[in-house]
Amino acid sequence: MTRDQLEQLQLERLQSTLHQVARHVAFYGRTFREHGFDPDRFVSLKDLQRLPPTTETDLISAYPYGMFCRPLKDIIRIHTTTGRGNDPIVLGSTEGDLKSGAEMLARIMTSYGLDGDDVFQITLNYGLGTGAFAFHDAARELGASTIPTSVGKSERQIKVMRDFGTSCLVATPGYAQVLLETAGRMGVTASSLRLKALLLTGEPWPETLRTRLEEGFQAKVYDIYGLSAVFGPGIAAQCPHCDRLHIQEDLFLAEILDPVSNRSVPPGRWGELVLTTLTREAAPVLRYKTGDRARIFPDPCPDGHIFRCLDRIPGRVDDILIVKGINIAPERIHSLLQESLDMDVSWKAEVVGFGADQNLVLFIGINEKLFFDRMKQQRALVDNLRRNFSQWLGVTPQVRLVEPGSIAAQTAASSATSGA
Ligand SMILES: [Zn+2]
Repeated sequence: MTRDQLEQLQLERLQSTLHQVARHVAFYGRTFREHGFDPDRFVSLKDLQRLPPTTETDLISAYPYGMFCRPLKDIIRIHTTTGRGNDPIVLGSTEGDLKSGAEMLARIMTSYGLDGDDVFQITLNYGLGTGAFAFHDAARELGASTIPTSVGKSERQIKVMRDFGTSCLVATPGYAQVLLETAGRMGVTASSLRLKALLLTGEPWPETLRTRLEEGFQAKVYDIYGLSAVFGPGIAAQCPHCDRLHIQEDLFLAEILDPVSNRSVPPGRWGELVLTTLTREAAPVLRYKTGDRARIFPDPCPDGHIFRCLDRIPGRVDDILIVKGINIAPERIHSLLQESLDMDVSWKAEVVGFGADQNLVLFIGINEKLFFDRMKQQRALVDNLRRNFSQWLGVTPQVRLVEPGSIAAQTAASSATSGA
């Protein structure tokens, strides 16, 4: 396929998507009317810029099924991901969505030399998120063996990896590091394993970790970018030959916008990654602001691939915190604190450490009325708070009670997330 042919395919797929959402998704029907946007007069990919970006708030406002473009009887799987609101973002999939997703991720795996003879160990959380299931479906598409160990019980993971001859490990970067350390403690060396590839997803990670994992496991490490609100893992995936990420442009249209003005930034410049789905049936999105900081290389990939390339994602353009692969919005921290303590408190949140040691630390300003008068209840309140965070965010924070003044002073001196 040539670049021109790819762009023609993108245009045709986008035209079809636009007609579908105009008819079946009330939010987009309204947006089109408000902006005088007529899908019948959509003739160039550039015309998309006449539409405003879709935000996370738009998706949350449509909870639970408002963004679905197909009737519920056609939806065969539902995933959710937490956002800034009390309700999560809901991602529905049709049979066709799961099939095309699995095929896409399988072709990425094939480009890494993986095939039906491989044994995949999937250490992502088999929960409401898309990650574990997407890799699971793709490995099945490839005809490979899949061991769905999910996350945790690290010593058992290493035993499974050794005894079952795992050749491809799927993990968050932080958990891959935990497993490397666990193998070291157990005296299991790379030579007693059959690992040849690690597929890492779910959070940004330092390049130094690649070296540690590749040396420790004697296997190649690949970076897989995804976003549960839009699709899941594989929207962009590391080139088999270099560290750039190929955007899967036959299925997604990627733009880089200034996160504040929403104007296009020139190729090569950093901005916010904005995605449009080209083939999603159940829940298509147009110009979705991912919140991820990114840039697209102006030049083609050195290996000559027609897909444009992203640089590795270094983090967020906004104030979202990422803890063990889970995105946490300050608004959620604030509302959970209010619910758990039944009052307004000053607070600050920090992510410390990496891998097994990574944790969310909540600094909470001691409120005289509550904490000094009812000391006995302090422990119960903190326990309840930790339980609520664990239940709703999947992260159990460390709680530090501090003088309220110290939070204000620290906040003024740093850019850490805080509220009052
Ligand atoms: Zn490449």
